[in-house]
Amino acid sequence: MSKAFDAIIIGAGPAGSTAAIRLASAGWSVAIVEKREFPRRKVCGECIAASNLPLLDALGIGEDVDALAGPGLQRVGLFVGQRKIIAPLPPMTHARHRWGRALGREHLDTLLLARAGALGVHVLQPWAVKQHDADGELHRCTLARAGEHADLELHAPVLIHAHGSWEPAPRAGMQADAARRPPHRDGDLLAFKSTWRNARIEPGLLPVLAFPGGYGGMVLGDHGLVTLAFCIRRDGLQRARTAHAGSSAAEAAFAYVRACCAGVEDVLDGAELAGSWLAVGPLQPGIREAALGDGQFAIGNAAGEAHPILGEGMSMAIQSAWLLSDRLIAHRTKTPASSEMRPTWSSVGSSYARTWRANFAPRLRFAAVCAHLAMRPRAAAPLLPLLQRWPGLLTRGARIAGKVRQSAMPARYQCGTGL
Ligand SMILES: Cc1cc2nc3c(=O)[nH]c(=O)nc-3n(C[C@H](O)[C@H](O)[C@H](O)COP(=O)(O)OP(=O)(O)OC[C@H]3O[C@@H](n4cnc5c(N)ncnc54)[C@H](O)[C@@H]3O)c2cc1C
Repeated sequence: MSKAFDAIIIGAGPAGSTAAIRLASAGWSVAIVEKREFPRRKVCGECIAASNLPLLDALGIGEDVDALAGPGLQRVGLFVGQRKIIAPLPPMTHARHRWGRALGREHLDTLLLARAGALGVHVLQPWAVKQHDADGELHRCTLARAGEHADLELHAPVLIHAHGSWEPAPRAGMQADAARRPPHRDGDLLAFKSTWRNARIEPGLLPVLAFPGGYGGMVLGDHGLVTLAFCIRRDGLQRARTAHAGSSAAEAAFAYVRACCAGVEDVLDGAELAGSWLAVGPLQPGIREAALGDGQFAIGNAAGEAHPILGEGMSMAIQSAWLLSDRLIAHRTKTPASSEMRPTWSSVGSSYARTWRANFAPRLRFAAVCAHLAMRPRAAAPLLPLLQRWPGLLTRGARIAGKVRQSAMPARYQCGTGL
């Protein structure tokens, strides 16, 4: 079976669903393909920076997020060894949204995708895009569904890669499978996440954890649950597993983190694990191509991934999708598709790639510096007395990290309101 659309989006994380909602609201016919069933939990610290909240309002899920998410995040903490350094987070200058919030990905991603479906986006789930190639002037995606023999083909002039970065990307053309998995390295970062009931965290506090070979964070999110998410180098995990023989990788890593950061012990002592541990990796921090040519674009982690120490990944996902959608919508309005005059997307690609770099490359670099300092306590040791004395440096760091920077503006776009 084959179907044609204006745009195909691969992946329904925050990036893919944001693009789907924006394009469908502008009258595009859109298919979004998601390989996993929702709701699904996902490895993530689950902090939504305040800069995204006006965008979630404009996407049409703001009220639901408001009702579900944990308390406003007004303070940041640095938990390292026995130390706890606490500082105010910078507020955003917005009438309603001054502080970030935390919300489980099983809720956020489900709300966004349901909104896309309600706006007429063709949601194919659980289907996976296995391969994509060119078919004349269109992109052809071949989809497969677990347990089914029949493949499905989709065609569109615009193909948006929103498949994240933690699993192999769909094959392009005749690309071989084997070439896509890099060999294991000691420095690979593996990520773990768990949620906890009855944890004792100060509401509104966002502790960042730093320990030799890794970093992480904890936060109070929806339903009174505390999320703990962290990354650890592969060699550090190996040592933790040797020290905790018989434990799972997640349990060994958790025992190590708990022993390294007194603050983790204080928050989780007596708490109960809610659901199983999740793991993913290796992470792929770095900048990739945002514009892939011939009407192909990448958004979210597929375009570039920041070390998650600053919790800006979802901002980059939602905001990059927003920036691309702005350009696609404006371009097609100016150049209507017809057999004589098909829109060429190269100007969109160059404008989007430029904007992407201007907005996100500095955040990626800053996150990399923070991550490397956090993982190397000896290198960071001279900084700790300074941070202890002037905690406002953490506030400044959060500002540089982009916590209150609005790269994308919803002002001209009121989804679902007809404005
Ligand atoms: C430990 C850790 C903590 C973090 N904490 C935070 C935080 O507090 N705040 C924050 O903002 N960010 C955080 N992040 C980063 C954030 O999770 C990611 O940046 C974000 O999920 C990226 O969104 P995305 O839409 O680009 O990709 P994803 O959320 O990864 O979504 C991609 C989707 O594509 C689907 N998919 C993949 N391949 C295919 C295919 N072939 N066909 C169909 N579907 C496919 C996947 O199933 C998935 O649902 C953290 C990350 C880690 C590892």
